[in-house]
Amino acid sequence: QIPLLAVDGGGTKCLAVFAEADRSLLGTGRAGSCNYQGIGEAAAKQEVIKAIRAAMQEVCQRKGIVAGQAEWEVACAVFGLAGLDTGRDREIIQQMVAAALSELSIQVNDLIVENDGFAALLGATKGGAGILVIAGTGSIAYGINGAGTTARAGGWGHRVGDEGSGYWIGKQAVQEVLRAADGRSGVTQLTGLLLTHLGLDHVEALFNWAYSPDFSVEKTADLSPLVSLAAEAGDIAAVRILQKASEELALAAQSVITKLALGEVPFTMILQGGVLQKHDLLRGMVVEQIKSIAPKVQIDMENHEPIDGVIAKGLAYLEKRAQAQ
Ligand code: BGC
Repeated sequence: QIPLLAVDGGGTKCLAVFAEADRSLLGTGRAGSCNYQGIGEAAAKQEVIKAIRAAMQEVCQRKGIVAGQAEWEVACAVFGLAGLDTGRDREIIQQMVAAALSELSIQVNDLIVENDGFAALLGATKGGAGILVIAGTGSIAYGINGAGTTARAGGWGHRVGDEGSGYWIGKQAVQEVLRAADGRSGVTQLTGLLLTHLGLDHVEALFNWAYSPDFSVEKTADLSPLVSLAAEAGDIAAVRILQKASEELALAAQSVITKLALGEVPFTMILQGGVLQKHDLLRGMVVEQIKSIAPKVQIDMENHEPIDGVIAKGLAYLEKRAQAQ
């Protein structure tokens, strides 16, 4: 029996890990985004299967077992999945996870399925008060206070939410290029950067790309590093986008701080996801704004990856179960 299977499925990638109770990794597998809101249930399930299957192969290689002959029994499986935002999402995603595990012939004793931010938060804060802000392809703020009450804000997917996320920043960048081409705002370096990145030669082609089958949430999110590049070079439109993104992320955090009455008490703040990890300027802006509303906040720069929180959540669960026995 393997103690733990942890899966972090964000809008950017799906990461699956088999681990021992002492946290040592037995196998890791990766696949693309598995947010069913972005790519549909069937495709999301395939990505989950792909990531877990790759992790299973690594376990077999390490242990010298012939794949196909191994029996797969897991004590606890924790799935932290983007797209789990409502009760309806929970039903859909639980079914999807059950189907994926059954296709892989993995037997799980205890199964925990949560939103990616929530699972990562619970693992990372280890019972203490804390807030986790994820800004990757999507975005969300999740928090827990000393009494164990939890709250969330933002994270309502790419169509109607995810302010401050990679997708949101990328979309704003395309909009700024169109505004500049119209003469509704000044010339921006984003025009050249976006066209070169996408291999296009004209702003109209950029517009056509946005309505073509080639357009995707991930590809739009991939434009966000270009905004950082332009902002660092002083581009006004790019700075405006990052400023607004940081305000939106801080606003989501502020709403969680208010809901959980964390304004005057010490708590940990974890910043995860590609946007917050890679865009130093943006991260600095977010941190500054949070500090001004919650002076006792401690920024945790260690917990980079949501998967670490998901693993910690699973191990804490196993420990608690062992103590209860
Ligand atoms: C999803 C949330 C998720 C967030 C961060 C959003 O697009 O709707 O469920 O928590 O991204 O990955």
